[in-house]
Amino acid sequence: MSVSVVNLTVHGIGPTERPLEPDEDRTWVTVEQFEQVLDAAVGRSDVRITFDDGNASDVRIALPRLVERGLKADFFVLAGLLGQPGRLDLPGLHELMRAGMRIGSHGWAHRDWRRLTDEQAREEIGQANKVLAELTGEPVTEVAIPFGSYDRHVLRRLRRAGVRRVYTSDGGRATADSWLQPRNSLHHDIGPKWAHEVLTGQPSLPLRARRTAARAVKRLRG
Ligand SMILES: [Zn+2]
Repeated sequence: MSVSVVNLTVHGIGPTERPLEPDEDRTWVTVEQFEQVLDAAVGRSDVRITFDDGNASDVRIALPRLVERGLKADFFVLAGLLGQPGRLDLPGLHELMRAGMRIGSHGWAHRDWRRLTDEQAREEIGQANKVLAELTGEPVTEVAIPFGSYDRHVLRRLRRAGVRRVYTSDGGRATADSWLQPRNSLHHDIGPKWAHEVLTGQPSLPLRARRTAARAVKRLRG
């Protein structure tokens, strides 16, 4: 029988340190919200914590709290934005690795992968993975898709590039060893019970409604 897991996605935590992209504030959580989620994940071998966007808060806020709780996580960073104001920088990347955290790619410049030119696609997938492998000294073979935006063309590109695991933002539980890994994103209005609901697989009504809405949007976008 396949093992089922729950993947969580964290974006930014605490005060923002850079101008945010449109709607990005919806993915930002407070330190308190973040700690509630971490506390719910302690002792749960079926929970994977992931971080997108390579924010400075990955190291400044998340890392000490993960270490304190004995938790490990995957950090999907933006290769082309490393070291920019409010973003993770190279010393930070190495600090994450020294603490046993794993590094994956979130692409180059946070573009929508469904709308790439061929040249941008090479940068977002091939180049980003190569640069991150050079910086970390390890192969980077796992990616998290920006905005969770993908279609069959995106998946075909990722397969061709030899990517070994792809994290989306589709919500729900995942099969531990499958190529495509749905994740559940923390967002600005999660309450204290959110993590418990997601981890037990019993979403509250508002969460279910949001998922249905997200699926409807995806259908409309084809
Ligand atoms: Zn992102």
